[in-house]
Amino acid sequence: MTSGDNLTPEQRFVFDYVDRNAKAIALTGDNIFYFGELGMQEFETAALMTDLLEKGGFKVERGISGFPTGFCATYGSGGPVVAIHTEYDSCPDNSQVSGVAEQKFIVEGAPGHCEGHNVNAAVLIATALAARQAMDKFGLKGTLKVFGGPAEEQLVSRPYFVRDGWFDDVDLAFHNHIGGEFSATHGVLQSALISATFTFHGETAHSGVAPWKGRDALDGVVLMDMGLAQYREHMRPEMRAHRVITNGGDQPNVIPRTAAVWWFFRDQTADGAMKLFEQAKKIAQGAALMSNTEVTVDVQSAVWPLRCNQAISELLQRHIEAVGTPEWSAEEDALARALQAKANAKIDGLKREIPPLGYLKTPRTSANDAGDISWKVPMAKFYYPSNVPNINFHHWAGGVTLAHSIAHKGAVAGSKAFAAAVVECFSNPAVLAEARRTFKEELGGVAYKSMLPADQKPPVALNRAIMDKFRPEMKKHYLKERPQFS
Ligand SMILES: [Zn+2]
Repeated sequence: MTSGDNLTPEQRFVFDYVDRNAKAIALTGDNIFYFGELGMQEFETAALMTDLLEKGGFKVERGISGFPTGFCATYGSGGPVVAIHTEYDSCPDNSQVSGVAEQKFIVEGAPGHCEGHNVNAAVLIATALAARQAMDKFGLKGTLKVFGGPAEEQLVSRPYFVRDGWFDDVDLAFHNHIGGEFSATHGVLQSALISATFTFHGETAHSGVAPWKGRDALDGVVLMDMGLAQYREHMRPEMRAHRVITNGGDQPNVIPRTAAVWWFFRDQTADGAMKLFEQAKKIAQGAALMSNTEVTVDVQSAVWPLRCNQAISELLQRHIEAVGTPEWSAEEDALARALQAKANAKIDGLKREIPPLGYLKTPRTSANDAGDISWKVPMAKFYYPSNVPNINFHHWAGGVTLAHSIAHKGAVAGSKAFAAAVVECFSNPAVLAEARRTFKEELGGVAYKSMLPADQKPPVALNRAIMDKFRPEMKKHYLKERPQFS
């Protein structure tokens, strides 16, 4: 921790705001943890977030770009326009009890947070409210826009927001994400991704009596799978293609008339992901030919790689260093070590140091649907330490700290640095000038163009059946106490 003596008045103000509201920040994340809502079904979550923003003086537009659980909340007017955004969806089959270093279900089979998007939401709200208070206090001109992006796990919402013009007037953007350390990295962090469902159409028949009369849609799915498996030989190591069969027919004695497979295709560039997708479409056509079926393709999302602007990353790094890592207790460190041991990860407890500003030239194989924003305007993403280092997300172990003091302390630290960085965008014109200059160099002449089909509509029914099945049981675990910021 740094001594308070070196802080600017703006930093001191937002740090005090965040400390004063530490309980509300914890309760925001914890409420959303127990909502445990999957992408496109974050109704309780979005209601809580927009309610807090409205109470805090923001003007809220709900349902943006046709996303029932998406929103844009605005405070202030004129330039500069600073956008902050994050996600708040959970994952299927990861309902994990908080604070225990072993797999233990809240509701077996139910969705749950196992990455920390619940804490992302809490940090976003605290940052918005702190920055808005600081804008008033210091008479700062400009507009703060807060975007809620549904269904990050399906990479769905933010490419639609960008395509539909929600970022046309934005000057700078920030994305906050949970991690095992408190850090910022510039460069290209994450890969491009295309998400598409391939539906094969055939004809039913009695599988025992007259199978030759049927045209088996599931054969189309299986043959497409074989074709892509064969094509993997020719993929570069950084490319990825993975799938789930979302409709494999109903019962063995009826030849399936329809069958569907949902694929994700990843590569380091938008162009590369698109080429892989085009190849997959050829393979699907081949599978349809072989199985005497027809195939239709539905693009659910198409995401550019996520890049982080150098100037904004440097700004974040400065404020991260001014905040420092949380002071972890012996109990918190012991839980982290027990979890690392149980998950067969490197056992080194919680981080007590801030890494220097990182730089990545080639992206990781993960993706985030914020990628499109980062080609439209200078954007940076930072990680705050609410999870345990070396633990993989989308696994029960990723859920253990998410409604625990580790998450709470990490969220306080993250909100302080985030709010201070956002406020400096309004108080220091050099930030925007330098971000614009470096952004132009970083793009290197690549022209951004949305990869989403122009008429593509958001998949609003996504995950509805799973949430309908589990929500009644999950509701029994909702918290009674709601957050109140002051
Ligand atoms: Zn995430």
